Amino acid sequence: MNIVLLGPPGAGKGTQAKVLSQEFGVLHVSTGDMLRDAVKRGTSVGKSAKTYMDNGELVPDDLVINMVSERILQKDVKRGFLLDGFPRNKTQALELDDALTRIGKSLDLVLYFKTSPEVSIERLSGRRACTECGANFHIRNMPPRKEGICDHCGGSLVLRNDDTPETVKRRLSVYENETESLIEYYKQKGTLREVSGNLDVKKLFTKIKGLFLEERLL
Ligand code: AMP
Repeated sequence: MNIVLLGPPGAGKGTQAKVLSQEFGVLHVSTGDMLRDAVKRGTSVGKSAKTYMDNGELVPDDLVINMVSERILQKDVKRGFLLDGFPRNKTQALELDDALTRIGKSLDLVLYFKTSPEVSIERLSGRRACTECGANFHIRNMPPRKEGICDHCGGSLVLRNDDTPETVKRRLSVYENETESLIEYYKQKGTLREVSGNLDVKKLFTKIKGLFLEERLL
């Protein structure tokens, strides 16, 4: 199954992608995670992306398009992919269509996580990310066993640079101005299905699984 997860920051796309990828063996491709890793490793992509990311802006299209096009060609994409955080504008969506056509694939489904701004803001402001392994927690909804410490690797949990109130506002307005139009784009193509991003992790997972069954993806 080749799927795009679409929705505002804080909709729970990354959390669901992790669960879905474990459950169904599809590859989770998160452009945000790939860029954060590039920043951490100090690569040239990371150096070019850092300021945009810290400011809550989109990084230049060519950087992410190349990253995704290369990733979906690799051998571990046997059972398909879940794109999380890509595409984020029309140029990226068109480039994705072209890249998929070139390799004889297409999108089975675009899952739109319809989420209220209040829920997004509450999730992002309470999110804590591990500085070592990147795992996410939430101070109320998904607290770590020991405050400030990652359950998985013992790393420190911090508020991400771009989860501060000012940058969250910026990211939500970038979403409205650049990404939201993709809902219409995929609706017209007939691939869009909507779920509520306001639901908690388990309820949303159950809904998505039901939808996969309806769509005969399982
Ligand atoms: P995310 O973790 O998906 O919220 O992404 C974090 C940041 O990475 C975004 O605010 C952007 O600066 C950058 N980013 C991630 N994906 C993309 C994309 N598809 N296009 C441009 N910038 C992106």
